[in-house]
Amino acid sequence: RLVLGIETSCDDTGAAVMDETGAILGESLHSQKEVHLRTGGIIPAVAQQLHRENIDRVVQEALERSGVTPGQLSAVATTVMPGLALSLGIGLEFSRKFVRQHNKPFIPIHHMEAHALTVRMLQPVAFPFLVLLVSGGHSLLAVARGVDDFLLLGYTLDEAPGETLDKVARRLSLIKHPQCSRLSGGQAIELLAKDGDKGRFPFRTPMGQAYDCCFSFAGLRTQITNTIVKKEAEEGVEQGTLLSCANDIAAATQHTVACHLAKRTHRAIVFCMANSLLPSRNPTLVVSGGVASNQYIRKALSIITKMTGLHLVCPPAKFCTDNGVMIAWNGVERLREGKGILPPDVDVRYEPKAPLGVDISAEVRAAA
Ligand code: ATP
Ligand code: FE
Repeated sequence: RLVLGIETSCDDTGAAVMDETGAILGESLHSQKEVHLRTGGIIPAVAQQLHRENIDRVVQEALERSGVTPGQLSAVATTVMPGLALSLGIGLEFSRKFVRQHNKPFIPIHHMEAHALTVRMLQPVAFPFLVLLVSGGHSLLAVARGVDDFLLLGYTLDEAPGETLDKVARRLSLIKHPQCSRLSGGQAIELLAKDGDKGRFPFRTPMGQAYDCCFSFAGLRTQITNTIVKKEAEEGVEQGTLLSCANDIAAATQHTVACHLAKRTHRAIVFCMANSLLPSRNPTLVVSGGVASNQYIRKALSIITKMTGLHLVCPPAKFCTDNGVMIAWNGVERLREGKGILPPDVDVRYEPKAPLGVDISAEVRAAA
């Protein structure tokens, strides 16, 4: 059985052809990151236009590289939620036409479900497991109980950690820094933090009072911005030219984000253990999403998992970010179990906002 996966939920146009074992037969990815980096953030209409210009070629390339013809496919899996409406629309429109034309079953995919399951393509991780997803658009903690069965323990109440790192990096104009010109905000902060003193600017860890699994990063960003504004005034430099303490601010930012993620993850582990949501044999925490590539954050999480006896698994960086491969794999997992497979002519809508699984965050908060 062969699955074509298509991803267009944000700023990557991705496609991949995969067999039932999870072997990638062919893939293609067009990233819009450079364009959005220049405009200082994603402009949805620009993202949509770039998806439109590239989707045909990306899908063709993935198919050609795999040596598979459309007729040989068993199904097409495409991200339909959550994400940017204009971006999701392009992938869905393309896929609906494609499945009708070739008379193939269609598998609508939840982008975060795909991130959560990717690890199983690389190594055997049995359900149930705990998963922390941290990226530019999301942050959530969930128990994965099955391919389409998730308990959502917590999510971000405002912005995502990657978004915070990107905005701090932009406020510091790190893109003009000689070492950082081609890096994402998160990567730039990780690099500069290596030579920084995290203790010089002691930022408060968010939501210190609440003992639940939800996240908040907007307040932290305000603290950081206020510090930058104050330092710029003290040193009499123009906005975005503060070099003297960029390393220290990067280190403190990274440290505080890591502390917040680690504390929330610890809370989730305690809740799962108290409610027998994880197996007693080899309980596992999977961490994925762009921010999961950060070594400092991984280290902080590994301290928590060691302390609580969990096994920590992080897929390699290229499988932590958006691509067609993870969507194809989700399609394979669903196809194997016969879950959510639709006929070619069914009317599917995209959903810009869609929580992953059953939201039990209030229960987690009440149990504290
Ligand atoms: P989505 O939430 O839909 O997955 P996205 O495209 O923003 O959206 P990813 O591609 O998974 O998410 O990740 C990109 C984010 O990860 C950016 O915010 C980037 O700054 C952050 N990031 C990448 N590398 C690192 C790193 N080494 N340390 C911290 N953050 C990082
Ligand atoms: Fe993603």
